[in-house]
Amino acid sequence: MMTTYEQSVREMLAEVKDPEIDSVSVLDLGMIEKIIITDNAVQVEMLPTFMGCPALEIIKKNVETKVLELEWVEHAEVTFIYHPPWTSDRITAKGRERLKEFGIAPPPTQPGPDGEWHVDCPYCQSTYTTMDNIFGPTACRSILYCKHCKNPFEAMKPVSTIM
Ligand SMILES: [Zn+2]
Repeated sequence: MMTTYEQSVREMLAEVKDPEIDSVSVLDLGMIEKIIITDNAVQVEMLPTFMGCPALEIIKKNVETKVLELEWVEHAEVTFIYHPPWTSDRITAKGRERLKEFGIAPPPTQPGPDGEWHVDCPYCQSTYTTMDNIFGPTACRSILYCKHCKNPFEAMKPVSTIM
């Protein structure tokens, strides 16, 4: 069972947004693995998303600052852990909706029957989008083009342990 203290920490975390996508919180992104509360100290274990994305230090600082806003908290610390690995499946349903509202296609949850990753257009939901080399090895997101509504849009790279 979640304690009232843990619940209050989670409510604060829901207000910490991704610095690049300001409608999606670190909770929605599935980055929070564990909240450890010892007296007045809060330790948050977070899973780093996309390797090489520069926002992690900013997120760490924002989370610590936000948690410290709770009256009973005197120490707040974020540690990044790598097990279990973060996968794009951890993004909540709400998180996926918010990404779409922001014009970013949420990462596909599994490859299509042909083994390729298909990304639906966040504007018209068409699957008729450009597919060539959409995800480079280092990019967190890439630009795609919808052949149906003719809009360019961003897509988040799928990260999965089965890839
Ligand atoms: Zn479209």
